[in-house]
Amino acid sequence: MTTPTTPRTVLVTGGNRGIGYAIAEEFVAQGHRVAVTARSGSGPAGTLTVIADVTDSASVDAAFTEVEKELGPVEVVVANAGITKDTLLLRMTEDDFTSVIDTNLTGSFRVVKRASKGMLKARFGRIVLISSVVGLYGSPGQVNYSASKSALVGFARSITRELGARNITANVVAPGFIETDMTAELPAEQQAEYKKSIPAARYGTAAEVAKAVAWLASDDAAYISGAVIPVDGGLGMGH
Ligand code: NDP
Repeated sequence: MTTPTTPRTVLVTGGNRGIGYAIAEEFVAQGHRVAVTARSGSGPAGTLTVIADVTDSASVDAAFTEVEKELGPVEVVVANAGITKDTLLLRMTEDDFTSVIDTNLTGSFRVVKRASKGMLKARFGRIVLISSVVGLYGSPGQVNYSASKSALVGFARSITRELGARNITANVVAPGFIETDMTAELPAEQQAEYKKSIPAARYGTAAEVAKAVAWLASDDAAYISGAVIPVDGGLGMGH
């Protein structure tokens, strides 16, 4: 049985919609103090919304400062904000590549680096990076996205080696195809094709990703670090 977890101060980036919104909802439901970053809109009921763009260090810093003032030092950070700019390699511009890396990978770096200050001081921290099945599986048209997401694995594992002794864990959650705005944009034929290759024969829900993230941040997962947890209906088996 899952034991009740200690209430924490949690920050989820990109918590105004999609998977980030569901993650924030789950943490609220479990009794945590939850803040989300948004560029527009706001997080679910019971959360503090702070404005931040993860491509801008000053904006990330200001968001953390506001959360620390309102809710206390951030103990759990979920780097969820992400974008895609899909196109085949030969058509991919350098900007298509670097902008995806800047948001998904360097954005996670900016957020986690800022979070780690307080975590080191508190000698406690839970870092969860939202990757994708595509990171290790690969996907045509997603050279930029896949590279940004697989890099999060080395990132989490290096943090684990660097900060593990300070009671800080860093893990990766790799969702498969989840029903969100991001997957809704895919053409219907492509969606049907994907479903055929998923052992569970369906898309996942954002709530199913949220459960895994919240568990990694819980007291029960204190000895799990540097792991890649798939939430993909079996799509990426063997990662
Ligand atoms: P959405 O497109 O629904 O939401 C993306 C979120 O990221 C939004 O809140 C968006 O904010 C935010 N964001 C994007 N760029 C920035 C930025 N520069 N600064 C701050 N926030 C930003 O995506 P999902 O919910 O589907 O995806 C969430 C994460 O899960 C992403 O990292 C994605 O790669 C990953 N993922 C998604 C899968 C899926 O099937 N949907 C599968 C595997 C992984 P705004 O509203 O302002 O644009």
